[in-house]
Amino acid sequence: METKPKELVVISGKGGTGKTSIVASFAALAEKAVLADCDVDAADLHLVLDPTIVKREKFSGGSRARIKTGHCTACGKCEEICRFDAIFFDGPGNGKADKTYRVDPVACEGCGVCAWFCAENAIEFGPVVNGEWFISDTRCGPMVHAKLGVAEENSGKLVSIVRTQAKKIAEDRKMDLVLIDGAPGIGCPVIASITGADLVLVVTEPTLSGLHDLQRVMDLTRHFGIETLVCINKWDLNEDIASQIEEQARRRGLKIAGRVRYDRAVTEAQIKSKSIVEYQNNGAATEIKRVWAEVVKTIAAPNS
Ligand code: SF4
Ligand code: SF4
Repeated sequence: METKPKELVVISGKGGTGKTSIVASFAALAEKAVLADCDVDAADLHLVLDPTIVKREKFSGGSRARIKTGHCTACGKCEEICRFDAIFFDGPGNGKADKTYRVDPVACEGCGVCAWFCAENAIEFGPVVNGEWFISDTRCGPMVHAKLGVAEENSGKLVSIVRTQAKKIAEDRKMDLVLIDGAPGIGCPVIASITGADLVLVVTEPTLSGLHDLQRVMDLTRHFGIETLVCINKWDLNEDIASQIEEQARRRGLKIAGRVRYDRAVTEAQIKSKSIVEYQNNGAATEIKRVWAEVVKTIAAPNS
């Protein structure tokens, strides 16, 4: 019987917890894994894994209106009906009118109403390209990743594309695992990162905001019924809070995958485009290997 690849998602309540350095180490430790960088708003796994792009595709997260200056008679109807105040009377003249109307592409929500109502057919409405996704080769295996334009919307849709493509590669090449660097927070991109996954590892740090963020993330994974492990990164920065986090996780029935100490060598390794487990054999590297062993044991269990 053919076995399906399992999906492991590493997430954190917010950015800056060291999640990506842990994912990069897992990528080096895993055998036969496809990597998926679903942190599309701040993708940085590529900085450590140095990918060679073999395929690139454009991404459109939505549509926008654009007024064709030459056709606009400056009747003002579109400005009147745009509920998002995205149309301004400051476009260039065109021989019929001294000034025309203009759509602000940042304010436009892509509802399409203005194009529908323009009697002159002066409004173009269609998809805009606001990102790209890539399939790459890395020293740790194939990787799917993406780049979203600054302040662009619909990163949840891009996350879903990255995940789907990574899963497809794993199935085609008969690889056992899709290792996902998930989006931070609890919004649409993280939901798109975790729904239907086999296991979530939450990376948190020992701060009060880390404790608070963990609660919200635990609510989210419980809501979607996904088995969840917790890892405390840089635990020795505040041992008291690290213990509180573990206590809280246990009360909620979650397993602790382990603690990883603060280690300056993690940054040194990143500067050299390496994960810490490729850079040294002690300190944080040893602890990440222990966390990885716990993750492998849990995801291999029959109920995961
Ligand atoms: S509705 Fe059409 S013609 Fe009227 S101002 Fe808008 S773009 Fe110009
Ligand atoms: S598409 Fe909708 S939001 Fe955009 S300018 Fe037209 S009416 Fe306004």
